[in-house]
Amino acid sequence: MGTVAGEALQSSLAVVKGLRVRAVRVPLDPPHRTASGAITESPLVLTDVLTDAGELGHSIVFTYTNAALKPVADLVKNFEPLVVGESLLPAHLEQKLAARFRLLGPQGLVGIALAAIDMALWDALARLHGTSLLGLLGGAKTVRAYGAVGYDGVAESARVAEDWAKRGFAGVKAKIGYPTVREDIAVIRAMRKAVGGDVAIMVDYNQCLSPAEAVQRLRALDDEGLTWVEEPTLAHDYSGHALISRETRTPIQCGENWWGTLDLQHAFDAHASDFVMIDVMKIGGVTGWLRAAALAHVRNVPLSSHLWPEISAQLLCCSPTAHWLEYADWWNPVLAQPLRIEQGVAQLDGVRGSGIEWNEEAVKRFSA
Ligand SMILES: [Mg+2]
Repeated sequence: MGTVAGEALQSSLAVVKGLRVRAVRVPLDPPHRTASGAITESPLVLTDVLTDAGELGHSIVFTYTNAALKPVADLVKNFEPLVVGESLLPAHLEQKLAARFRLLGPQGLVGIALAAIDMALWDALARLHGTSLLGLLGGAKTVRAYGAVGYDGVAESARVAEDWAKRGFAGVKAKIGYPTVREDIAVIRAMRKAVGGDVAIMVDYNQCLSPAEAVQRLRALDDEGLTWVEEPTLAHDYSGHALISRETRTPIQCGENWWGTLDLQHAFDAHASDFVMIDVMKIGGVTGWLRAAALAHVRNVPLSSHLWPEISAQLLCCSPTAHWLEYADWWNPVLAQPLRIEQGVAQLDGVRGSGIEWNEEAVKRFSA
């Protein structure tokens, strides 16, 4: 009986006919400044899954640098023969592709390209079933979002933080890592004054400190009432992060630069971070996210997201330890309907698939 039911399910699914891959460069206005440099535009690869039921699934991956844009677009397209003719079964295809790339390695540009395919397949599966990703996965929670403040100095950081709070966001996160800790504290206190006592304030060092510097700085921040301090040192220095976490009181937040669930497990084993914020691309798409969410659940670690607000909001709503959604509007220009946030909460009613559909006019305009 099980086999018959499985065959019936499989035959009702669409079959992958091809991938359409486009590269765009979306300008960021204003540029996003961090302690590790400014981001002035987003190089994105847009992937569409073409099926025998029509064009179904869409995804975005972010290559950070233009130098990687064409190579990633080429990789996604080169992987097309591995999925053409296959039924729309994303978890099954993830296993097949993971086995195929075990020797080359599943991280870096390969990981980005595989995530592009995985996210587009899940988007297609949800649309095929006439529902959202959240509906497909059976989640129901809602998630609150925080807004981003750049590496913009005291006055501008306070102004931007106040803007987010006025829009109903219950949290704001600032880039810090100024030349002195006194300047870091001045920015934090100016934001606190601007948003009041009830809005959560997070800060992000973007990996710019050594572990020893981080211990000194974070001890000086321990009485500022911060919700977390993000990536004080190199993302993959798990023992360094564990040292910082042991020696300071404010929770450490890491994860946006970890590749796949094995990185997450190694970080958890090292006690590198009190919280975790995963990046749906680097963690391995929707399939990777679901495994990471299970791992965070087992370890009872609060789970937040990095960029990709559309798909991450839905995934957080299916994650047992969901904490905060990182809201960013960077890629809104190429989206037909960007995620709506009302009173700081992601609005998911009426969303189709993973929420990714194109503003074709903008996609053409920003074509790389
Ligand atoms: Mg960060």
